Amino acid sequence: MQQSVFELMQQMGHEQVVFCHDPNSDLNAIIAIHNTTLGSALGGTRLWNYNSHSDALVDALRLSRGMTYKAAISGLNLGGGKAVIIADPSMKSEALWRRYGKFVNSLNGKYITAEDVNTSARDMEYISLETEFVTGVPEYMGGSGDPSPFTAYGVFVGMKASAKKMWGNDSLSGKKVLVQGVGHVGQYLVEHLSKEGAKVYISDINEGKIKETTDKFEGVEVIAGSEIFNLEMDIYAPCALGATVNSESISKMKCPIIAGAANNQLADENVHGPMLIEKGILYAPDFLINAGGLINVAAELDGYNHERVMGNVEKIYDRTLDIYNLSASDKIHTQAAATRIAEKRLTDIANVKARL
Ligand code: NAD
Repeated sequence: MQQSVFELMQQMGHEQVVFCHDPNSDLNAIIAIHNTTLGSALGGTRLWNYNSHSDALVDALRLSRGMTYKAAISGLNLGGGKAVIIADPSMKSEALWRRYGKFVNSLNGKYITAEDVNTSARDMEYISLETEFVTGVPEYMGGSGDPSPFTAYGVFVGMKASAKKMWGNDSLSGKKVLVQGVGHVGQYLVEHLSKEGAKVYISDINEGKIKETTDKFEGVEVIAGSEIFNLEMDIYAPCALGATVNSESISKMKCPIIAGAANNQLADENVHGPMLIEKGILYAPDFLINAGGLINVAAELDGYNHERVMGNVEKIYDRTLDIYNLSASDKIHTQAAATRIAEKRLTDIANVKARL
């Protein structure tokens, strides 16, 4: 039997879930607020043509919990939230974004939105016409624009830290790296990898994205989706959607490191975290290394400074090494180690607040 919304909220520790519907703009959205101990729940809005409403709900719940951990481990004073809009990407319209902006506004800042899959800085601009609780608005409107370059840079430094742990040297020159999904983040990541001299392979379901990437970067090789786990590679970088690290893919994987941008890469962290350890694959926790975009949009809220943002994103390198060390010393998988650090900060700050 399927679990009810409240059972799921209880299981994952959510504070609030908001269902939004507007027949005029064809809007069906779910805003999930996971935890506001550290501050307003900030997280992007994903627009996706979900197979069912329950798939959309579970996605919103899992993604918002990930945002809580991402903010906590990154030292940000923000809570975790995320929203999903159930629609075909071709259905995007000004009316849909503005109506959605009104729903966000009705939460009075408890939830702050931003970009995610299938949403753009232009869409954030429409939202900003109806609410101030939006980040990642275009630069010409005083915002910090697309967060993807910062996310990609964070993933790149997390990848270098993983290389350091695995090979004692963080150079990626000559390493074979497969970037699965060359959208916003994936293409910036390919740029960093190409500059570093890595041998880059890409895979995407969108031919246009493949062409854009191969036109921009020389020497990039294209791999069919069905072939990616047959490839002998040094690093697998999932930069499309979640749950690509599962029992089937792990059994085929021929790579010592997984480090990518996608959220919720492990289909089931309790099963697949330990499975990766057993197979000797070093997994860079997703919410730790893909925090660059969040660090960037968070900076919009308290006076944007590019250098400070880059410095904060670079801290992902040391944090990744710390997590690997904790994983080794406490004999826990790397996602569990990252979760432990994030949960400790949440508990510590909740205790501080309780005493005020
Ligand atoms: P995007 O939509 O721009 O790019 C995703 C790409 O993946 C697209 O090109 C799409 O065609 C491709 N794709 C989808 N399914 C695929 C499949 N099965 N195989 C291969 N390719 C596939 O999204 P993005 O902004 O680049 O984000 C990528 C991932 O990183 C998402 O999981 C997102 O949640 C996560 N993320 C993004 C940011 C950010 O700053 N944009 C921040 C944190 C996490």
